[in-house]
Amino acid sequence: MNKILVTGGLGYIGSHTVVALQNAGYEVVIIDDLSNANVDFVDRIASITNVKPSFYEIDLKNQEKVNQFFRENKIDGIIHFAAHKAVGESVEKPLMYYRNNLVGLLNILDGMKDFNTDNIIFSSSCTVYGQADKMPIDENTSLKKPESPYGKTKQMGEEILEDFSNAFNKKVICLRYFNPVGAHSSSKIGELPNGIPNNLIPYVTQTAAGIREYLSVFGGDYPTKDGTAIRDYIDVNDLADAHVLAIARLLENKNKTKLEFFNLGTGTGSTVLEVVHAFENANNIKVNYQIKERRLGDIVEAYANNSLAAQELNWQPKISLTESMLTAWEWQKSI
Ligand code: UDP
Repeated sequence: MNKILVTGGLGYIGSHTVVALQNAGYEVVIIDDLSNANVDFVDRIASITNVKPSFYEIDLKNQEKVNQFFRENKIDGIIHFAAHKAVGESVEKPLMYYRNNLVGLLNILDGMKDFNTDNIIFSSSCTVYGQADKMPIDENTSLKKPESPYGKTKQMGEEILEDFSNAFNKKVICLRYFNPVGAHSSSKIGELPNGIPNNLIPYVTQTAAGIREYLSVFGGDYPTKDGTAIRDYIDVNDLADAHVLAIARLLENKNKTKLEFFNLGTGTGSTVLEVVHAFENANNIKVNYQIKERRLGDIVEAYANNSLAAQELNWQPKISLTESMLTAWEWQKSI
């Protein structure tokens, strides 16, 4: 049985991916520093899959501890989620973002080099494209300088991985996520936002739950059908499946080049108001909202051309926006 290290495996996308990996028969070891995750997710994962993943509480900035981990574990493949991810916070604390997201990655790559692990999947983001000139966005779209230090750490991460794979002959897949939404159908795992949510869906669910008074819709004057910005909302369980397919591709040497990039989105753009209404209709509940000023750094629209992932990974998103809104609400009610 192949042993997969999932860094950030107790986080939002990480925990869903651990479930999908275990369901596919992989042995999973998690590293998480619990900076934005809860240790009880280990048991929550186990209650879904009936298998308790091994868990190491390690800060990836601690190279000695990372090396110790690799000495103790023979790892066949790595899925590297662990990173800070709040765009606004990254503008205020750029050094913390560069240190955490880049030093953590470097220490993992040193571990791969020194302890002979050949395969890594990197959590990247559609933020690397910035406001693309044409929709939908495919993988050949030229990258733009990201607006935030967070986005820059993702772009730099991809560049570091390119040099790493060339120098040490390692296999790398960068998965560029669009907007992850939804929760596991069991309601045992989901997104746990830290404090006031930055992202749309947790803000919507907290407003519906009465925790927030109203949702601010950032911008009502975009050049879109209802004036609100367009994104591609992809269910977290579909994302998790893509990681399982991607790591299998590397383990089976089915990759076409040492370094590959895949967009993970549904291929459909939805406006903020369409998402709010999808949530309201799915759950038969009203969401108070007010149209406000545009948020600094936001782009008008981003949605994926996902045909490369369909063709190469044999991946198809299966879960509709309505279903994601149902699971997101079930999860909110359970926490
Ligand atoms: N958004 C909003 N109100 C919120 C949070 C987000 O109107 O409280 C909008 C945001 O302007 C963007 C979309 O929802 O158009 C998705 O934002 P999110 O922060 O979830 O993800 P991003 O696309 O910025 O990574």
